[in-house]
Amino acid sequence: MDRIFNFSAGPAMMPVSVLEQAAKDMVNYKGCGMSVMEMSHRSPQYQAIIDEANSDLRKLMGISDEYEVLFLQGGATTQFSSIPMNLGARGATASYAVTGSFAKKAMQEAQKWGDVDIVGDSSDKNFSYIPKIDAASINPESKYLHITINNTIFGTMFNEIPKVNIPLVADLSSIILGKHYDVNDFDLIYAGAQKNMGPSGVTVVIIKKNLITPAAGDIPTMLRYDLAAKSGSMYNTPPCYGIYVAGLVYKWMLEQGGVAAVQKQNEHKAGLLYDAIEELSTFAPTARKEDRSLMNVTFTLNSDEATADFIKLASSRGLANLKGHRDVGGVRASLYNAVPLEGVEALVNCMKDFERGVRA
Ligand code: PMP
Repeated sequence: MDRIFNFSAGPAMMPVSVLEQAAKDMVNYKGCGMSVMEMSHRSPQYQAIIDEANSDLRKLMGISDEYEVLFLQGGATTQFSSIPMNLGARGATASYAVTGSFAKKAMQEAQKWGDVDIVGDSSDKNFSYIPKIDAASINPESKYLHITINNTIFGTMFNEIPKVNIPLVADLSSIILGKHYDVNDFDLIYAGAQKNMGPSGVTVVIIKKNLITPAAGDIPTMLRYDLAAKSGSMYNTPPCYGIYVAGLVYKWMLEQGGVAAVQKQNEHKAGLLYDAIEELSTFAPTARKEDRSLMNVTFTLNSDEATADFIKLASSRGLANLKGHRDVGGVRASLYNAVPLEGVEALVNCMKDFERGVRA
């Protein structure tokens, strides 16, 4: 079978050239007689791989020396605990915008350690919009404000980065490298790799150095940013192979012309799909127009039966993983960087055919 167009929300589609390069290197990496999987993380060959991944990510995102780049494990979810612990929120207050399921999970994890101020909450309309964050009303004693830039399940994103006088922490899991962000607008950025950066198992944390303090010794060792930074992300064995593949994705991004060039392509792809949703009467968007996501496009049909029929027709054409998350229903098409324009065009054609009555 040829490759499908995979609209999965993550793990998600990877650039074919990256998969091919990884396959080529699988048994014998650059003539060293072993796979990256078999290499000691303390070897010079592996040190070169992680250093290059670090410097390519810095290049792609314009990360200055004021920030540390960490390659960690445990998914973005582990960061939900690491952040309050490392940023001094234990027995103190942290502010959270609750804009979706992951934002809520992050907030609930912080609640285990201290007080949480909720500064925006869109649960009243099933997270279909991004609430306004009123910077003036943020507790100045709060240790940080946490936002989830792109809400993977609900298909919304922050188009405006809140300007606040406390450290800004952002979960960029489902939009990192899909859209340009000025890293200097943030104090801490984190993201699981499995959408735009590579295989799952790697979590990137970009943290301003002045926020890294020798953490209290009772913070679990693997959650301490100071130890991760001091050891070059190698306090213990890092996710070696995942970091290597993420490095290949960074090289692919650089070949595409960097984040700005890929963003343009992403805007074109998402634009085509949103236009189709608006033009065709069979489909309705779930997210408020001004808050809709560049990466995860969510829409509904008028019945579960119609949704199932549409997904069946799409699958028959090699358009896969379009079923919406159970919290929203309908359809979700994730248009990450590696999803080609042809995939989106095929999806739009499928929607037009479905409206005309074509069935699988
Ligand atoms: N935050 C966001 C925005 C996500 O989309 C996800 C995963 N889909 C997570 C956090 C959780 O990530 P992980 O599975 O890497 O823990």
